[in-house]
Amino acid sequence: MDDTIYNLKQKIAELQEEIERLTTHQTQLQLVIKSTGVGIWDWNVPTGETSFNERWANIIGYTLKELEPVSIQTWLDHAHSDDLIESERLLKEHWSGKSEYYIFESRMKHKDGHLVWVLDTGQVIEWESKGVPKRMIGTHLDVTDKHLMMKQLNAANSRLKELSYLDSLLSIPNRRAYKKSFKREVSRAKREGQPISLIMIDVDYFKLYNDSYGHIEGDNALKKVTKSIQSSLNRPTDIVARYGGEEFIVLLPATPIDGAITVAQRIQKSLDRKKIEHSQSDHAVLTVSMGISCCNSDFSALLERADKAMYLAKKGGRNCYEVYRN
Ligand code: GH3
Ligand code: MG
Ligand code: MG
Repeated sequence: MDDTIYNLKQKIAELQEEIERLTTHQTQLQLVIKSTGVGIWDWNVPTGETSFNERWANIIGYTLKELEPVSIQTWLDHAHSDDLIESERLLKEHWSGKSEYYIFESRMKHKDGHLVWVLDTGQVIEWESKGVPKRMIGTHLDVTDKHLMMKQLNAANSRLKELSYLDSLLSIPNRRAYKKSFKREVSRAKREGQPISLIMIDVDYFKLYNDSYGHIEGDNALKKVTKSIQSSLNRPTDIVARYGGEEFIVLLPATPIDGAITVAQRIQKSLDRKKIEHSQSDHAVLTVSMGISCCNSDFSALLERADKAMYLAKKGGRNCYEVYRN
């Protein structure tokens, strides 16, 4: 009898110790939950009963009281509908054992109407049977700032990329940029059996222009030449690029030689109208010489031939265009 009482007392002491340990553990857990700024969810999957901590509600602009009564529907109501399909896919992946835990960055609707980005993670801690979850717990972390930063970073990166391909003086594609797109266009023309033309443009006596009016005026004159070229191109597929110092190339997809000649004449007229004084030139105004080539399946051949035609235009007195002929 004494032994039984002794054993019972022993058992009670052990249980009290266990309760104390659990209470301490619980307090520690609550402390962690409170201090991390992490939202917590605890979901009974079959019944849909779910509890959230205060922070979970705060992330989307509410107090927990404002959201009550809560259930898994509370999450569904505040999640961005476009993210639900992916979320369900990832949950099922976790339930089937394909992933160790559920993790997803998704959008939620804030009380004020804007969207917040949440890193949602969770894990099944009790199973009904294999592949069928009973209870799942997880966290919500507000990662909106990170997303904003990423967005700004991406915008800055694409602007940087754009700039590295644009000539800094004339804001048109530079040598690095045009090669890729011009080659692509020439291959496309070949594939589709379409004509494609190229005009090489070189400013006449530009060294003399710089010598007479100074480098800054020279730069301004180049900008005016660029405007004349741009205003002479009508199709969105026509491209002008800076080939070198005072040299430009224009690519005209789906354009036979006659079309290219029309464009060259338009460039010449447009520059004529600008009447940029050039006292050292035979023509008294700033002019260009142009070489035109067409219908070659190879970009470098197209370029070489336009260059040869341009040389003939220079030889022929400048302020004119020449067409490359075999
Ligand atoms: P040509 O009629 O035979 O083409 O004579 P040119 O003087 O135009 O040809 P040349 O190749 O001898 O000189 C080109 C000049 O273009 C050299 C340089 O003074 C000028 N140039 C090249 N790039 C720039 C630029 O970005 N800004 C300015 N201001 N001048 C440039
Ligand atoms: Mg030149
Ligand atoms: Mg020149």
